[in-house]
Amino acid sequence: MVHLAIPSIKDDNILVAPIEEENSWSDDIKNYLENDQLPDDKMEARKVRFKASRYVIIRGQLYRRSSTGLNLRCITNKTQVQKILQDMHDGECGNHSGSRILANRVSRQGYYWPTLRQDAIRYVQSCDACQRRASMSHKPSEPLHSTLIPWPFMKWGMDIVGKLPPAPGQNVFLLVLTDYFSKWVEAVAFSQVRDKEVVSFIQTNIICRFGIPPEITCDNGTQFISDRTKRFCEERKLVTSTPRYPQSNGLAESSNKTIINSIKKRFKAAKGKWVEELTSVLWANRTTPRTSTGQTPFSLVYGCEVVLAIEVRLTTSRHTSVEHNLVDLSYDLDALEEFREAAYIRMAAQKQVVERNFNKNVQTKVFQEGEYVLRRVFQNTQEPNAGKLSTKWEGPYQISSIVGK
Ligand SMILES: [Zn+2]
Repeated sequence: MVHLAIPSIKDDNILVAPIEEENSWSDDIKNYLENDQLPDDKMEARKVRFKASRYVIIRGQLYRRSSTGLNLRCITNKTQVQKILQDMHDGECGNHSGSRILANRVSRQGYYWPTLRQDAIRYVQSCDACQRRASMSHKPSEPLHSTLIPWPFMKWGMDIVGKLPPAPGQNVFLLVLTDYFSKWVEAVAFSQVRDKEVVSFIQTNIICRFGIPPEITCDNGTQFISDRTKRFCEERKLVTSTPRYPQSNGLAESSNKTIINSIKKRFKAAKGKWVEELTSVLWANRTTPRTSTGQTPFSLVYGCEVVLAIEVRLTTSRHTSVEHNLVDLSYDLDALEEFREAAYIRMAAQKQVVERNFNKNVQTKVFQEGEYVLRRVFQNTQEPNAGKLSTKWEGPYQISSIVGK
């Protein structure tokens, strides 16, 4: 068995250092009970006398009276501590239980030492089998560093949604790109999404409409990182980035959710022809104010509010008085910059709130060079059929250098 976080008995003798035995936590108590001797220091002496009332010596062995009346044998050396923990945790009758259960079990078996709980935690944390099968922590390990994009079409988030119920043409996937600033969404249905489709989508729906963006973020899909996509992007000086944490791609994902929800709602009426509904879903999405900006994507892009079909039927002054409208329009265009600035400020404020909430749950994990770590297993090649019983972590690996966040 390899212990990772702490040195094991076999390869390091820190844990079996004889010092522990010579200068044990129970010496003073034993000395008092056996020989009536107390430490010279008055306060110390008082403490020992007080503590000793819970201890008893039976045939030369120190016991501690537990609250249940059982006499717990006092363990005074580290080798024994390790042996007991090992036996109860991963020995013959061990069941790799958690530290709390392990500590309770040790007391129930009639053993006592003052650092039992701490030692149990440390032991379980360093158990090789437990580490390899440890469940994933869903707490973020680092604070959120979300990016704030100050202008439309500087950064797009890309994502694939699917599989959806097959629509005519066997379309089951939806390739979605969302502008980080205006939340403008472009989406197209595909029967399969290969690098070919990704490249053509970026060309038609992004570059030919909004120009070459400096950056597109996407997850680790093979289509996004294939040579073809890379070459296409490099030729256009277009940076593709992969969010370190899926959370930072949250924008793309949350807009996908909105789109999927809209499609679902229209799905029934469209009798499965969701692809045909896509245009109107996207349109609705672009003309609905977003909470993060307080504006519609349309107005942030075009600098004016859209004339919706309803306004033609139920006329508004904006639609009827063209003259007035023209003045308004030019005013709107002049004010576009200010308007976008306001949206930006609002987004920045919201980002702070989101980050604060997110960072409340952060459990920072700091690793040092030279430390041994286990790595999350994504594809288990060693035990392909183990299913749920397979190990979740592999290694140990030694950290050779720290390259940054
Ligand atoms: Zn274990």
